[in-house]
Amino acid sequence: MSGFSFDLSGRTALVTGASSGLGARFGRILAANGANVVLAARRTTLLESLTEEIRQEGGQAIAVQMDVADEDSTRAAYDAAEATFGTVDTIIGNAGTNIEGLALDVEASSLDAILSVNVRGLFLTLREGARRLIAAGSTDRQNGRMVIISSVTAQSISPGTGPYSASKAAALQLGRVLARDWANRGINVNMVLPGYIPTDINIDWFASEGGKRQIQKWPRRRLMGEDSLDAMLLFLSSDASRFVTGSAFTIDDGQTL
Ligand code: NAP
Repeated sequence: MSGFSFDLSGRTALVTGASSGLGARFGRILAANGANVVLAARRTTLLESLTEEIRQEGGQAIAVQMDVADEDSTRAAYDAAEATFGTVDTIIGNAGTNIEGLALDVEASSLDAILSVNVRGLFLTLREGARRLIAAGSTDRQNGRMVIISSVTAQSISPGTGPYSASKAAALQLGRVLARDWANRGINVNMVLPGYIPTDINIDWFASEGGKRQIQKWPRRRLMGEDSLDAMLLFLSSDASRFVTGSAFTIDDGQTL
C-alpha cells in the first residue's frame, strides 16, 4: 500500500501574479498546506496585505516585487526569496494579462503587452527558477515543481481572444518542451488549463450581456468557484506528482464540452 500526501512542509513556492485573483488564492492554499510562500507581482501593497493575512493564519509568506517581463526584476525577486527561505523549489507561473478587442481593432502595442507577460514573462520566470534549482542540486533531489497556468483558450475557440488565446497556447507548448528539457534535472513541469473563474481579468465581460449569454451556452451555465483549482495545484506542487511531467490538465466544469 503506498501512501501519498499533499503536505508541502519544507517546500518554498513562488507564485507570480499573487496580488489578486487566482494567484492570491494559490498563495493562501500553498501556505495553508505548509509551504513557505513567496508572493510576487508588481502591486506590492496588495501583496503586503495578503502576506499579513497568511501570517495571521499561521503560514509563512513574504511579498516580493516582480515584473515578470523584466529580467532584472525577475532575478531580484528570486534573490529576495532565497535570502528568506532558500532555494525556490515550487514555481507557479500564474501572472497573466489580457486586453480585449476584436482582431481587426487590436493594436500592435496590445499584442506586445499580452505576449510580454504571458509568454516572455513566463519563460523568464521558469528559466531563472530552473537555473537556481539545478545549481542547488535538483537533479539528485528530484524536487522541482513548476505549474503553468494556461487556459482552456489554448485549445478551444473563444471568439475575440486571438492574442490572449495564442499566448496561452504558447504557454502550453512552452511547458511541454521545458518538461522535456528538464526531465533529467529533477524538475517537473505541468500545465493547468482552467475554464472561467470570475476575477479582475474577466469580471467586466461576465457582467455584460455578451458574457451572460456565454455562460448560458455552457452545460452547467455557471462560472467556476475560486476553489476549483485547489486540489490540482496541491497535487502538482507536492511529492505525490513525482511521476507527472509534461502533462496538461483541463479543469473547466465542462465549459468546453
Ligand atoms: P487577475 O486577477 O487579473 O490576476 C492577474 C495577475 O497577474 C495579477 O496579480 C497581476 O499582478 C499579475 N501580473 C500581470 N502582469 C504582470 C507582470 N508584468 N509581472 C508580474 N505580475 C503580473 O486575473 P486571474 O484570473 O487571477 O489570472 C491569473 C492567471 O490565470 C492568468 O495567467 C490568466 O490568464 C489565467 N486564467 C484565468 C482564468 C479565469 O477565468 N480567471 C481562466 C484561465 C486562465 P500585478 O498587476 O500586481 O503585477
